[in-house]
Amino acid sequence: MKKYSTETQCVQGTYKPKTGQPRVLPIVQSTTYQYYDSDDVADLFDLKSAEHMYSRISNPTVAEFESKMALLEGGVGAVAASSGQAATTLAILNICSAGDHIIAASTIYGGTFNLLGVTLKKLGIQVTFVDPEASEEEIRAAGKDNTKAVFGETIGNPGLNILDFDKFGRVAKALDVPFIVDNTLATPVLCRPFEHGVDIIIHSATKYTDGHATSVGGIVIDGGSFNWDNGKFPELVEPDPSYHGISYVKDFGPAAYITKARVQLLRDFGMTLSPFSAFLFHLGLETLHLRMERHSENALALARYLQGHPGVEWVSYPYLETHKTYQTAKKYLKGGSGILTFGIKGGAQAGKELVKHLDLTALVVHLGDLRTSILHPASTTHRQLTEDQQIAAGVSPDLIRVSVGIENIDDIIADFDNAITQVAEIN
Ligand SMILES: *Cc1c(COP(=O)(O)O)cnc(C)c1O
Repeated sequence: MKKYSTETQCVQGTYKPKTGQPRVLPIVQSTTYQYYDSDDVADLFDLKSAEHMYSRISNPTVAEFESKMALLEGGVGAVAASSGQAATTLAILNICSAGDHIIAASTIYGGTFNLLGVTLKKLGIQVTFVDPEASEEEIRAAGKDNTKAVFGETIGNPGLNILDFDKFGRVAKALDVPFIVDNTLATPVLCRPFEHGVDIIIHSATKYTDGHATSVGGIVIDGGSFNWDNGKFPELVEPDPSYHGISYVKDFGPAAYITKARVQLLRDFGMTLSPFSAFLFHLGLETLHLRMERHSENALALARYLQGHPGVEWVSYPYLETHKTYQTAKKYLKGGSGILTFGIKGGAQAGKELVKHLDLTALVVHLGDLRTSILHPASTTHRQLTEDQQIAAGVSPDLIRVSVGIENIDDIIADFDNAITQVAEIN
């Protein structure tokens, strides 16, 4: 399928039934697999066979979802996980232990910010958050002898800043560590991070991959490009005593990282994706190209409309010429995706009121669904923070985040026009 375009890969993917088998990917709802001979099982335990052994580690339906994501991103392999958070945890713990250090963009998703800054810190992994707009020298200066990864997000949330892949990639190269990127908001349809120097990609599949808000899940994809045998990652090179002394780099070559993630960490932590969720994600991917095109088109149209609305103070969307990373967006993305933010005249109170006057648009703590949805972070997700802390997190009191769906754009615009006109302080 490699020779086909992204659209065709989304529809036809990697699943190829043999004659007489189901045309649509089956859900293999089985924890176990049967063997005729104990030697077959012994080979599985020695990693000499790629067959399935136990569904905590791999499953045929989950494997098809993993192959399709690896194909779409252009990687050598992937491991699905029970959530986006689990995927990030897996991606980092696969190469970091107590005493190690990571550099991360400060504008990443709030859940990841907590995971890195609070929870991984408790495990002894330090993180330095850097302003993604800082110079290459400043970001590089955050590097230490024990730095093991550089982490960023294609589209920051809620700032919607686009990552300067070249700049961050050069820092990772100079430090000789992998560059890990969360590509959730862009998806492989709008951005292919492996083509811009990224080594490992993670996704919250919960968002656009699913697209219908049915399931929580995540995935780690390995670009196969990083040389782990550089003295910094002995766990990937030296014998693993839990597998009779295999070496991931020597035995699995470019798939060393992703093999270790599965056979060591998925085995031990068990943050496994269910076959049913994998089926739904796989189904979602079949229309990903169409949805991302429409999400991007609708979001740009709504952003332009809001810019001209008397009840609106400001609008932020990566594909607006006024956005501070517009040039970066043009360089790396094929569309602005479906998320925009705006400030309503009347501040926090008007923001909170707005929600009540929307009809089509629903208040949900989610994004990437095909239904248009909205969130007023200051009164919901960020309400525990002081106003100063909110502003530091990029959440002004008047900020409204919209996840623009794929409904008719005139209906979406009319919904916002009606609600804003009723609640904004328009003189
Ligand atoms: C939602 C989200 C996550 C976390 O994913 P879950 O599936 O909710 O665990 C990580 N990164 C980004 C960019 C997200 O939007």
